[in-house]
Amino acid sequence: MPTLFAKIIRGEIPSDTVYRDDRVTAFRDINPVAPVHILVVPNKVIPTVNDLTQDDEALVGHMVLVAKHLAAKEGIADDGYRLILNCNAHGGQEVFHVHVHLIGGRPLGPMVQRK
Ligand code: AMP
Repeated sequence: MPTLFAKIIRGEIPSDTVYRDDRVTAFRDINPVAPVHILVVPNKVIPTVNDLTQDDEALVGHMVLVAKHLAAKEGIADDGYRLILNCNAHGGQEVFHVHVHLIGGRPLGPMVQRK
């Protein structure tokens, strides 16, 4: 079964795509938690961070550099932002196609709520 994000990348589900190249696609999160909330997704399906291999090293670096580029383009680089990769249940992962969340545009507070 193709993932939701694979369908978005193939244009089968509409999205607000802000960046695309031969390795990654970036689009705005449908349920943003901040004024800027963009997902940077590899064009090939990798379910979770646990599934990354040494062969994906350059791809993961590229995802971060694309996020950096988009942060500058969105005008949030100087104030700052957060990059997040959620993995599996305790990480709160909902879509099993690795993605970097680029979140910013307001102060984001502590990284994780203390219990
Ligand atoms: P995660 O919990 O890290 O797997 O994040 C999945 C993200 O995908 C959530 O922030 C959702 O709001 C977002 N999302 C789900 N469906 C869509 C969609 N159709 N277009 C854009 N973002 C989506």
